[in-house]
Amino acid sequence: MIHLRLVGKTGGSEILIGKPLARLPELVGRERNAVIVTDENVARLYATSFPSWPVVTIPPGEQNKNLPTVLRIYRRFLELGVDRQWLVVAVGGGVVCDVAGFAASTYLRGLEIGFVPTTLLAQVDAALGGKNGVNFYGYKNLVGTFRQPRFVLCDFETLRSLPLQAVRSGLAEVIKAAAIADRPMFGFLEKNIRSCLNLDRKAIAAAVARSCRVKIDIVSRDEQEAGERRKLNFGHTVGHALEKISRLDHGEAVAIGMAIAARLSVRKGLLAKEEEARLIRLLKEAGLPVTLRIKPSSLGRALLKDKKRENRNIHFVFLSKLGQAVVEKIVPQEIIEAAHDLR
Ligand SMILES: [Zn+2]
Repeated sequence: MIHLRLVGKTGGSEILIGKPLARLPELVGRERNAVIVTDENVARLYATSFPSWPVVTIPPGEQNKNLPTVLRIYRRFLELGVDRQWLVVAVGGGVVCDVAGFAASTYLRGLEIGFVPTTLLAQVDAALGGKNGVNFYGYKNLVGTFRQPRFVLCDFETLRSLPLQAVRSGLAEVIKAAAIADRPMFGFLEKNIRSCLNLDRKAIAAAVARSCRVKIDIVSRDEQEAGERRKLNFGHTVGHALEKISRLDHGEAVAIGMAIAARLSVRKGLLAKEEEARLIRLLKEAGLPVTLRIKPSSLGRALLKDKKRENRNIHFVFLSKLGQAVVEKIVPQEIIEAAHDLR
């Protein structure tokens, strides 16, 4: 088991990588009241391994990452008599962690929460860093808070039930972490991407631990996204826009976003062509898409609707080499031109 710690202004998190779900009760404390928030799919798979705490089940999927689902959780908390001494344990993927995190951080002005992310994407990204939130009016994560979970428990056994597609999607975030901040890890992934796809325990443990380390380092320097934390958005400006207008999942959209960001980095003279080629090769070997299959003009329209744009300029994450990111302002038109290159 690998034990990492994140210390933030909104609390400290223990990140327990490779710890089994069955150890939850001792982590929470046997005397303490707790409530599990999960979704219907995760409940079907793991309800029998849950400790004997009450369970709040929400409908699955990004389309339910909204305020009506939060209201449903509040109502159940009220019925259960949840008070400020209770701990909320979210068991599931990114949507469950985001919605339960938001409900817990607002109910009674904030309850403690622990995360048990069951997807690779959530283990390496969504469950870490203290951001939560729900979508509103078609905007992703428009309503939310910053609040660090007390713990994040990553049990690799839960990854075995994932379809290959979901493993690939998670690996997009792993590759992102290496590309922005950990060059040796990028080399490790180039050698071990097959083993990661097969969920080989040693390879996946290293991939999860090193991605978490990258995120923890960045978040502990900039919890509220004033600068440094923006680097975690590598591939995401375009990725979020693509998710809105296509059927791509998060990892696939981010993979294309990273390919466009790398191309832009080369165009700006920041990144060597060989480095771009290594990134593209690794993404392809992970089974992720690297070319745009929609019109660059529709991408342009979606980009301009992004809530994170500041006036006309947007903060954009470039690479100066594999393992090093730089954030600079850019006009959306430049992104669209690079997208033309990739068709
Ligand atoms: Zn992401």
